[in-house]
Amino acid sequence: MTTGNITEIQRCSFNDGPGIRTTVFLKGCNMNCAWCHNPETIRHTKDLHYYVGNCIGCYKCVYVCPCKAHKKINGEHRFFPNLCVKCGKCAAVCYAGAMEMSGTQMGVEDVMQQVVQDKPYYIDSNGGVTISGGEVMCQIPFALELTEACKAENISVGVETNMHVPFEEMKPLLDKIDLVMCDLKIFDNAEHKKWTDVENTLIKENIKKLDELGIPYIVRTPLVPGATDSNENIKAIAEFLKDAKNMMYYELLNFNPLGGSKYKSLSRKNVFADAKPLPKSRIQELKEIAEAYCTVRVE
Ligand code: SF4
Ligand code: SF4
Repeated sequence: MTTGNITEIQRCSFNDGPGIRTTVFLKGCNMNCAWCHNPETIRHTKDLHYYVGNCIGCYKCVYVCPCKAHKKINGEHRFFPNLCVKCGKCAAVCYAGAMEMSGTQMGVEDVMQQVVQDKPYYIDSNGGVTISGGEVMCQIPFALELTEACKAENISVGVETNMHVPFEEMKPLLDKIDLVMCDLKIFDNAEHKKWTDVENTLIKENIKKLDELGIPYIVRTPLVPGATDSNENIKAIAEFLKDAKNMMYYELLNFNPLGGSKYKSLSRKNVFADAKPLPKSRIQELKEIAEAYCTVRVE
């Protein structure tokens, strides 16, 4: 049976598509957006978080770690991540929540056990399951099995994807999906590469092909101060989408600063540590620019 590399299953989510949803976050991405608010989903391998403020100095980790990555020095707990081999033993005994592992292999049946518990809510709210990430298209066989299991339960399925995968590889999954939420973050190719590590030519081609499939979809741009939020960028993306036949709407997502503590816990540099969400008036300006070309929503 195919297993998925999963960081989290979030029940009662209202942010990842219509209605009440369960969002399954897959680990591993093929892009590296400088503002990612789920940085633990970028790497394909396990991550160990260290939330230093949660440590209560019980030293259980010191006794279980096979690599001596935890030490008691001058009466204080110290963690040395360069010695860690990600075995997870410290996270299993750290009841204070200072050590946490990201990345669990789960079978479809295990995921479905959680998914079906909220089935009445999906039906009442026109919600369902969203497969997110990370990047769902990095784990297509698992996503396909999970989608088929949901369909067998009459549960609607959406995906959140960056579309940076050859279309033929995505198509078997897209053919079974009820709603695609895809990102076009930056229109200029060089700027896109600068902030995400990849060019956007394939993404633009795939959005055109997606429109031909006839599946409802939403295109989204996260508004990241200084990276994606210029008038020129939003105008260029909206103009690119102006002839779309099956796009429900173009969505502008305000900057989400909530990933900051995760960057610290992973010892990752956070380029946008001081960035703030855009004020309502600025979002309204951008919305009006885009509305000259297509239907726009703001989140
Ligand atoms: S087990 Fe957790 S709380 Fe206890 S010393 Fe280690 S990191 Fe701190
Ligand atoms: S994950 Fe394993 S190797 Fe890494 S610090 Fe914890 S116990 Fe040590």
